[in-house]
Amino acid sequence: MKQYDVLIIGGGMTGASMALMLSGHGLSIAVCEASQSHHKNSQYDQRAIVLSYSSRQIFEAMGVWEKLLPLSQPITNIHVSDKGRFGFTRLSAKQSKVDAMGYVCSAGEIGEVLSDQLKEQSDIDYLCAVNVERVESVGNEVVVYQSDDVNEKFSAQLVIAADGKSSKIRQQLKIPVSHWKYQQIAFVTFITPEIDHQGVAYERFTEKGPVALLPMKDGQYAVVWTVNEDEAESIKQLSDEHFIETLQKRFGRRVGKFHSLRNRLSYPLDFIYAEQLIKQRVALIGNAAHAFHPIAGQGFNLGLRDVVVLAEQIIQANNASEDIGAESILKNYESLRKSDHQKTLLMTEGFVRIFNNPLFLIGAIRNIGMSCLDLFPSLKQQFIDRSMGVSGSQSKILAGLSVRD
Ligand SMILES: Cc1cc2nc3c(=O)[nH]c(=O)nc-3n(C[C@H](O)[C@H](O)[C@H](O)COP(=O)(O)OP(=O)(O)OC[C@H]3O[C@@H](n4cnc5c(N)ncnc54)[C@H](O)[C@@H]3O)c2cc1C
Repeated sequence: MKQYDVLIIGGGMTGASMALMLSGHGLSIAVCEASQSHHKNSQYDQRAIVLSYSSRQIFEAMGVWEKLLPLSQPITNIHVSDKGRFGFTRLSAKQSKVDAMGYVCSAGEIGEVLSDQLKEQSDIDYLCAVNVERVESVGNEVVVYQSDDVNEKFSAQLVIAADGKSSKIRQQLKIPVSHWKYQQIAFVTFITPEIDHQGVAYERFTEKGPVALLPMKDGQYAVVWTVNEDEAESIKQLSDEHFIETLQKRFGRRVGKFHSLRNRLSYPLDFIYAEQLIKQRVALIGNAAHAFHPIAGQGFNLGLRDVVVLAEQIIQANNASEDIGAESILKNYESLRKSDHQKTLLMTEGFVRIFNNPLFLIGAIRNIGMSCLDLFPSLKQQFIDRSMGVSGSQSKILAGLSVRD
């Protein structure tokens, strides 16, 4: 039985980041990924991800930001509006005195950079086509069983479940979750705008759901178009030509005519929130712990903040020759993450409820709200800080310190 200090289940963006954050600190690490190969797009798709400023800091600490920067489009301005009403707000990097409001990169490209980096680390075993069936706590370690090979087992002092929103490990440990379906589908695609995007992102709320346009490095816009389930089936059936026409009608002509649609994907949206983040030497991170509506583009950014806080706890314990899987270490992780999870949940759910509500009164309130954001700079700054992941951080890395400090 192969033994490790830390074994991470799931080599998606969060699990891969976790391994890289721990690398170089005297720990032996394994990443077990169910997908068949390390190759491009095996477990990562082409959805566009907005990386917040705090995610940039975390990638810098991990040593991968210089590879991601050339692939990422900085967002210079965000234009938020409500179709057919007066309220809108503009968020600008210049006004906020930052280089960018965020960076847009495809999940496929982020995944490729992370997998390449994983393969280069001598302290990480990156094991693909390993589908973990279950884990079992035995004394001071966890035994990890693979589904299709009863003889192949691993053990570790600490297991980190980064196996996504349907986490088998979370279910096996009977960790309770709050779960509901939004009864909405997010369509993701790419269009070329008639007018050069100049780094401007748009979030346009319509009576039938929000449309986000995210500027990409290659001049295209990544589109995230959310619709209710009852409308989704007919949209799915549309030809590319009719899809682009319907999308254009929904968004308007602020960036001119849309051209050349590519890569249409769709995602059913649900909400998952684990009531506990730890159990029996296992810690949950990323979507295994929380999956929110993509309306505020926070999911992966929040997962990366799980990564950095858990990594700090593990590295400090290891440096002090303590048991890295001890309950006290994991409890610290859990209590440090609660407030960020809850605040991000409140912000995201607030958006979902206010902006998906066609009632006249709610519509009027959200328009006043948007106009107020423009009128009161300190309110706007608080909103920006949370979106950028820089408010109330409990992480040394996000405070610009080394974990050794
Ligand atoms: C339309 C849309 C737009 C989004 N936009 C943004 C955005 O702009 N910004 C943002 O921050 N977030 C965004 N998100 C959220 C973001 O995509 C997710 O938070 C992120 O992908 C979660 O990554 P993860 O690694 O935690 O989980 P996953 O990507 O689900 O990875 C889980 C991994 O675990 C592996 N696995 C599963 N089970 C096992 C097993 N038993 N054994 C071994 N391996 C296993 C899987 O193969 C997979 O590779 C968006 C989401 C959607 C749907």
